[in-house]
Amino acid sequence: MNKEEFINEVSKLGINLTEEQLNKLDIYAKFLVEYNSHTNLTAITEEDQIYLKHFYDSITLVKAVDLTKINNLIDVGTGAGFPGMVIKILFSNITVTLLDSNNKKISFLEELGNKLNLTNINYYHGRAEEFCLKNRETFDLVTARAVSNMITLSELCLPLTKLNGYFIPLKGSNEEEINSSINAIKKLGGNIEEIIKFSLPYEESTRNIIKIKKVNNTPKEYPRRYDKIVKYPLK
Ligand code: SAH
Repeated sequence: MNKEEFINEVSKLGINLTEEQLNKLDIYAKFLVEYNSHTNLTAITEEDQIYLKHFYDSITLVKAVDLTKINNLIDVGTGAGFPGMVIKILFSNITVTLLDSNNKKISFLEELGNKLNLTNINYYHGRAEEFCLKNRETFDLVTARAVSNMITLSELCLPLTKLNGYFIPLKGSNEEEINSSINAIKKLGGNIEEIIKFSLPYEESTRNIIKIKKVNNTPKEYPRRYDKIVKYPLK
């Protein structure tokens, strides 16, 4: 997907990118490639692929939620900033927290954010389940892409979601994984409101965006320690 195609596809999502936003994405793509030459951040380094699989894919979050109405978002396991950093560049109204347990990735994001003069953005090096101890049920919107399976991810993310807020992970094609997490989501106070299925343009791979509303507070015992979350997945 070249830049022209990117602009066109993003406009189909209802977003007309400004010169300033395009310029910031351009700096982002270049800095990602440069930084990646000495520090491993991503396997995707070809520009057309960055625009499709990182930038466009991140922006598809708008299919599930009106981001102009969100105040406070956290991206759990943001890696090199997907989708959280891309969302911040497009929706400067949102206070974005980028969380990752890998400090190299957080350092990259902090440098990038400074280059782009971004404000109302927090960088946090740490694990989601520990971050939750002090930030329980504080985010309007919790998102994540490619971090772990739905059951594990729900235990990491739903405790961070405010009551009546949303947890919206960007998932691939594994529908069985989604279906088998319904009970766990319920236990954690969530309710699947909608599953938005589509294919990525140009390469036609399947995506599912799961729109989960936080309808009850999460019981205090969650999240458990990471080894327990993985060893005894919620049923
Ligand atoms: N969301 C990005 C990165 C995916 S790779 C993308 O889609 O490109 C998964 C990332 O999650 C890694 O950077 C890893 O460090 C982070 N991660 C995994 N478990 C985590 C946890 N419990 N808390 C915080 N970060 C975690």
